[in-house]
Amino acid sequence: MNAESGMEILLESKEPTTRSIEFIRRAGERLGLGRGIINDMINPQKVTVFRLPVKFWGKVVVVWGCMSLHNDARGPYKGGIRIAPDVSIWETVELSRLMTLKTAVMDIEFGGGKTGIRADIREMYNIFGLKERDRDFEEAMSLDICEEFAAQFKGLFRDHVYVPAPDMGTGPAEMAFIYNQTLDPASVTGKPEGVHGWLPGRKESTGYGVSHAAKRLLEDILGLRVEGARVAIQGFGNVGMHAALFLAELGAKVVAVTDLYGGAYDPSGLDIQALARHARKAGTVAGFTTSITNEELLALDVDVLLPCAAGHVLNEENCKAVRAKGIVEGANMPTTLEGMDVLVERGIPVIPDIIANAGGVVASMEEYSRSLSALKTRREDVLRTVTEKIDESLDAAMQQASEQGISIAEASVQIAIDRVYQAMKRRRLI
Ligand code: NAD
Repeated sequence: MNAESGMEILLESKEPTTRSIEFIRRAGERLGLGRGIINDMINPQKVTVFRLPVKFWGKVVVVWGCMSLHNDARGPYKGGIRIAPDVSIWETVELSRLMTLKTAVMDIEFGGGKTGIRADIREMYNIFGLKERDRDFEEAMSLDICEEFAAQFKGLFRDHVYVPAPDMGTGPAEMAFIYNQTLDPASVTGKPEGVHGWLPGRKESTGYGVSHAAKRLLEDILGLRVEGARVAIQGFGNVGMHAALFLAELGAKVVAVTDLYGGAYDPSGLDIQALARHARKAGTVAGFTTSITNEELLALDVDVLLPCAAGHVLNEENCKAVRAKGIVEGANMPTTLEGMDVLVERGIPVIPDIIANAGGVVASMEEYSRSLSALKTRREDVLRTVTEKIDESLDAAMQQASEQGISIAEASVQIAIDRVYQAMKRRRLI
């Protein structure tokens, strides 16, 4: 094994080469950084593997997770808590690395971290003898998992070493359970309305930012109008649903949406408000109208494709079949390294995850810094800050991309790495 990091040696396992690793390597070389320093940018500073004995309905259910604290050179480790059946250490490390890049390219004084908890809630139906889908059961289970997680790590949150937030499988309700453990409004972001330190607009901020990035892609890169633009969205959770609602408000035609359970397709444009009501009740977009599969959606002939669900859904193969004019990465790392190379070769522009879905961390910055203020910031001011921060970063990345003849995704990583490197050097961390 050709291990390069202390972590790989200890784990006796080689991290898969991901897009962020390769882009950091290339950016580091362009910036003239040595191999050791580039590795310091790639590797996490600390990874903890933990066991959570979750007490639920008179039983103890054991789940495992890991927390990757990637880099805190520019501020506290920041990143969401993911609960999913396929979480792994390397995926969590990759997601924490993306947070370091995201906070840096957005120029927010946070670092990067992530928590992955491996739990197959659908598997738990068997343990508890349930047959029918029961959303209250699923919610109660994820709340109890988060409560146990928070009980174990509350010291880190209260000391503002690591400030968690929601990610796939968690939301504001779980963040309230973390607050219950710390009783510190700055210890966690993404708290629900009414909980000390909550921020109006935080819940919809990521989807709002994705819709703004899609507007910029349409108008400034593709030279199209938002009104009437045809959009396809994979994922109808916190990110996908809000992006769809905001894009529909701007006059775009969202023609297709898919989730884990199925899809909805209407070439003349879906009624997104009605779809959201249906999804809230049914727990899926399936059954709303004509169905469509995930693979069909990714290959639809649309103006913009928004992958807002899982990672690695766009790969070398299906990127050859993409017919969208441009892509906005609502999800984290939805396009693989090889997939991105195909898109670049085909001239399909991509607004990368670390800018496109950064609305949530911009709002988290506001929530964290204003957490002791009883005077609430208005929702429209929060969303305006999201717009401004995305515009600033996207403009800088587009300029760097055109000056250096690289993609916007690579330019974003280069800007981020330069900032992290400067902070590490000033703090004598390297
Ligand atoms: P969520 O759990 O609220 O919703 C996820 C949605 O994606 C659901 O509709 C689910 O059914 C669907 N989905 C999951 N796996 C799928 C698959 N393999 N194929 C098709 N559909 C699938 O999650 P979310 O908070 O909306 O996060 C979505 C993505 O955005 C994740 O990659 C997450 O890391 C990223 N993200 C979220 C936030 C945030 O503020 N919530 C911020 C930045 C990035």
